[in-house]
Amino acid sequence: MRVQRLDVGWFTAPAALMRQGEPRDSLFRFPVPAYLIETGEQRILVDTGLNPAAVADPAGFYGQPEAMSLFSFEQEQSVADQVDLDTLTMVVLTHLHWDHVGGLPLVPASVPLVIQRREWDAGHDSAMLQRNFFFPRDYAEERPLVLVDGDHDLFGDGSIELLFTPGHTPGHQSLRIGDLVLGGDVVLFADGLDDHRFPIFGDQDAQARSAERLRELRDAGLTVIPGHDPDVLRPGLVTV
Ligand SMILES: [Zn+2]
Repeated sequence: MRVQRLDVGWFTAPAALMRQGEPRDSLFRFPVPAYLIETGEQRILVDTGLNPAAVADPAGFYGQPEAMSLFSFEQEQSVADQVDLDTLTMVVLTHLHWDHVGGLPLVPASVPLVIQRREWDAGHDSAMLQRNFFFPRDYAEERPLVLVDGDHDLFGDGSIELLFTPGHTPGHQSLRIGDLVLGGDVVLFADGLDDHRFPIFGDQDAQARSAERLRELRDAGLTVIPGHDPDVLRPGLVTV
């Protein structure tokens, strides 16, 4: 099994929004990763990065001038520039935020999407959309859906396990691939597993429980990858 990390953009945002206790008015530049998992028969894209059409004007693209005026985007290469998307066997999304689902429209509509049912339902409920900063523009296109309820052994052979890790969003999930855990945004920084300095949004109690779950895996010897930590996330092969 081969796991490759892709650089699918950067976003700059108020640091205090994304990590509690950061100074007000300071900005931080967050890397946006996606992952390509290749097995004998499968080519799985985990998250899809920023939508290249949104980079020049995120607020205008999403029609969200208030929320998105806090963010600016950068992208050298979209996911389509780095991966032959026609040969994917599935896309797994950790959650529906724009830095994870933005590249989905670049993926052929025949490629199935694997996501937690609670996340998908929240992404189609008007109150939940607002509360969770979900922008359906990136996931409006119809495609085959695999809706998962809780932890799930993806191929029934233990090779890849989806872990239900809610809190950052209602149906957030992580992936365990052997001894590697792609944590998604359970914690944005590696230190978050211990200091619990989560973003100021989301369900704080659920985030804490999910972070504890991943901390236990880390303490048991697994490698847990955080969501947006520039000290950890560098493009290239990830050791499994
Ligand atoms: Zn994110």
